[in-house]
Amino acid sequence: MEKNQHDLVVIGGGPGGYVAAIRAAQLGLNVACVEKETALGGTCLRIGCIPSKAMLESSEHFWRAREEFGREGIRIANVELDLATMLKRKEQVVTTLTRGVDLLFKKNKITRYLGHGRIEAPGQVTVLAEKETVSVSTKHILVATGSKPATLPGIQMDGDRIGTSTEALAYTEVPKHLVVIGGGYIGVELGSVWRRLGAKVTILEYLDRILFGLDAEIAAEAKKLLEKQGLEFRLGARVTGARVEGDHCKVESEGSEPIQCDRVLVAVGRAPNTEKLGLESLPLELHKKGFIPVNQKFATNVDGIYAIGDVITGPMLAHKAEEEGIAFAEQLLTGFDHVNYDAIAAVVYTQPEIASVGQTEEQLHEAGKEYRKGVCPFRANARARTLGQVEGFIKILADSNTDRILGVHILGAHAGDLINEAAAAISFGASSEDLARTCHVHPTLGEGLREAALAVAGRTINL
Ligand code: NAD
Repeated sequence: MEKNQHDLVVIGGGPGGYVAAIRAAQLGLNVACVEKETALGGTCLRIGCIPSKAMLESSEHFWRAREEFGREGIRIANVELDLATMLKRKEQVVTTLTRGVDLLFKKNKITRYLGHGRIEAPGQVTVLAEKETVSVSTKHILVATGSKPATLPGIQMDGDRIGTSTEALAYTEVPKHLVVIGGGYIGVELGSVWRRLGAKVTILEYLDRILFGLDAEIAAEAKKLLEKQGLEFRLGARVTGARVEGDHCKVESEGSEPIQCDRVLVAVGRAPNTEKLGLESLPLELHKKGFIPVNQKFATNVDGIYAIGDVITGPMLAHKAEEEGIAFAEQLLTGFDHVNYDAIAAVVYTQPEIASVGQTEEQLHEAGKEYRKGVCPFRANARARTLGQVEGFIKILADSNTDRILGVHILGAHAGDLINEAAAAISFGASSEDLARTCHVHPTLGEGLREAALAVAGRTINL
């Protein structure tokens, strides 16, 4: 093949794009990936999931050392925060992982173009780099450009004191008072980080609950636990404005008093990244909120142009994008594969973690579906006792007639790891009895899943 000519050009090197590129290359295509940032890995690796999890982990260690180790007979005098080192470690984690993607591209012989990709026509992509413009020809184009933080009218972001998660992952000083706009994933995760490191944190949420979309019972219990950790929530507060005024920030909202603070984190959702992609010159109509419409094969209505990840509808989650990347490549080359959206879990990395897969009780009520519910509190689990983390519970929802598992919702220690077993169960169409009859290692947190499954049939052993 000639230079700059490929079978597939992927625009965007995030979890959706890079995984699709690797799978397509493994299946024999000549693949290129256009990414405008020097580091591959997208929002998730560079400025999202990975740095936030590094900060969540470090801030939790700090909090435990200060507040909890004493209970276990570990006395440490004068636990001090060295924020610069904490931030440096976070950067090191990011660098190691993004370089790992470079190595994977080399291993799979994927051509990397550094620059902004723009579709000129089906089969034609231009890479706009700092010093040159390169034309690339290809049979197929995959748009995997992800999303960017959404904002609100009236919020004057200055990219420093009033900013997005990108800024909130890199504050060089612990804010005295951080106001978070939005009680969603980012709000509670980054709110937790800075609370643990010593900030007063106020979360303003428009709705009458936090973590909209997750099971309401779980979200309500999570709110209580986060409040115990010192996070302050103001629900029903619709933020209408935020600006820097002299040496402080002012946040105004309907339903709550104006607040003065020193930092504001805007976390009101994300919007698909479709700007300057050349889509406007194609016969392609975007959804109202800017998403690219695709069919089950991730194909748009323009021949040879596909899209996956945050630019299409569905949860904005890295693993959903990865799943779509693999399914796209498999579909293209073999004609098979699909994504089972019912088995895509979501995790909020608070302490304790919150994890969910399948349908919530609200969704089942709305669908008029009859279900049975089994609950196991973590306090009944031996391993949770030994960990000293007994807050929360596991809830399994199973079809009343078939016993098929419809949803699993967990608030508690290592919920993010436990949920994968539930996702596998839902993937394989397991019943709650299947889980209840599976021998789980003792003592592990996973036994709580089994106990919740036993609870569905009203025959618990440890409760
Ligand atoms: P989100 O959609 O989770 O939450 C945004 C919140 O802002 C909503 O609850 C909404 O009601 C509220 N809001 C909107 N307008 C408001 C206003 N005027 N005043 C007050 N509140 C208002 O969005 P996010 O937390 O910004 O996260 C963005 C995306 O990133 C999410 O889609 C999420 O899936 C993803 N994400 C995932 C993880 C994870 O998987 N652990 C972590 C971070 C982000």
